[in-house]
Amino acid sequence: MNTAPSSRISPIPRHAHGDEADLVVEGGRLVTPEGVRDGAVVIRDGRVDALVAPGDPLPSGPRLDARGRYVLPGLIDSHVHFRTPGLEHKETWENGSRAALAGGVTTVMDMPNTRPPSLDAPSVRAKAALIAGRSYVDHRFHLGADPDHPEVLADLDPAVATSAKAFMAGHHTAPVVFREAHQLEAAFAAAARGNVRLVLHAEDQHVFDLLDSRSGDPGSYDAYEPHRPRSGAIVAVAKVVHLARTHGTKVHVLHVSSAEETDLLAAAAAEGLPITFEVTGHHLSFTDHDTARRGPRTRLSPAIRAPRDQERLWRAVLSGEATTIGSDHAPHTVEEKNRPPAEAPPGLPGVQELAVSVWTGLLSRGIEADTAAAHLARLMGKGPAELFGLAGKGRLTVGADADIALLDPAARWQMSARHVHSLCGWSAYEGWMFTGRFTTVVTGGRVAWDLARGTVGEPRGRWLQGPARPRPDAALPTADRELEGASR
Ligand SMILES: [Zn+2]
Repeated sequence: MNTAPSSRISPIPRHAHGDEADLVVEGGRLVTPEGVRDGAVVIRDGRVDALVAPGDPLPSGPRLDARGRYVLPGLIDSHVHFRTPGLEHKETWENGSRAALAGGVTTVMDMPNTRPPSLDAPSVRAKAALIAGRSYVDHRFHLGADPDHPEVLADLDPAVATSAKAFMAGHHTAPVVFREAHQLEAAFAAAARGNVRLVLHAEDQHVFDLLDSRSGDPGSYDAYEPHRPRSGAIVAVAKVVHLARTHGTKVHVLHVSSAEETDLLAAAAAEGLPITFEVTGHHLSFTDHDTARRGPRTRLSPAIRAPRDQERLWRAVLSGEATTIGSDHAPHTVEEKNRPPAEAPPGLPGVQELAVSVWTGLLSRGIEADTAAAHLARLMGKGPAELFGLAGKGRLTVGADADIALLDPAARWQMSARHVHSLCGWSAYEGWMFTGRFTTVVTGGRVAWDLARGTVGEPRGRWLQGPARPRPDAALPTADRELEGASR
């Protein structure tokens, strides 16, 4: 191409070669923070450049047909265990992130209970390096809170992590546990000083130890839920509320399982405490009857509880009391899950099934489709993006990252093992008839996955580091306040 010398000096106007877009997603129903409406999405340079009303002129450029589809922001699952490093026999980052795309998820937040666990900044950086070039989705990491070194939280570089996971009860794949009250108190205090959000597995190990000392290990899955009862979760949540009130620590309670916890957390939030919570797809989809009937597949930690608990969790999801829904994607091999009840590890794969299982649940509860789409975009978009400061994610709006998931809202399909992308190769939802299916997923303005081809192109997921730490010579208190304000 001949280029006039003058064009090397003055920058070429952005649309000098006509008004061509990198991609135009047209004909779909846009799920935006301002409402659900028909329109087109114009993508340039990896970002949403414009949302165009029907009938208004569109630029030239490649087209993606979204007729009959909801155009959702690429969804966020803020609770996955992709098992790197050290547990790659259960899951690989390639498999886990491919499962994410098939479930409409373009950003994940990964948990620290790996081997070794990510308990400090160097281990998080080492994990990011291991994953570089292998992920199909963008990712952020939760640090692991270390009972022996709570001071790490007070001095955590936000570029590395802005949240830390604390386990108040342990299990097979969660050996780092806050057993002592003074350790937990120190972690809450340090997290408050470091402006770190604590994400919590809130079950009380002492309650479980006490019950185990009397009743021993569960011999069957009928006995599993009573063996890990709601009392453990309720006691832990009461402690969390007390500590958040004492120290002002920001907390996000994960996988709330019972009606009582939900009531406590909703009341604490209404009081103005910086407390939010997550509900998982499996606690919305299954009850303790499933665990008794189907055994290890729905052996979870926290346990899946009674139908009345499930109804309270759905109410929390629909009312906005719950800020996020997460999959707690935690695969294990079939062999591991089939061990005797006391030895089988809790957890199921779920990043692929989360959005469609919740979509199916919303419609089956009589929620109208536009409203259901707005719920999904809040719970897996705006909610986690704002909570964890994921800039450019979770909203279909001008300037956002061009991550988009197209949902066929009425597709009926039966889940089977052959659909599973997780390395573990099984799903608790096998045999389920889902309503709704993702057909195309775009990341950074390019098609990354579609139903016909699977993943398209190389893995190009990025580590989404948090905001850089303010420079020591900057006015620290002001900068901290701004940072805090920006992440809300
Ligand atoms: Zn988890």
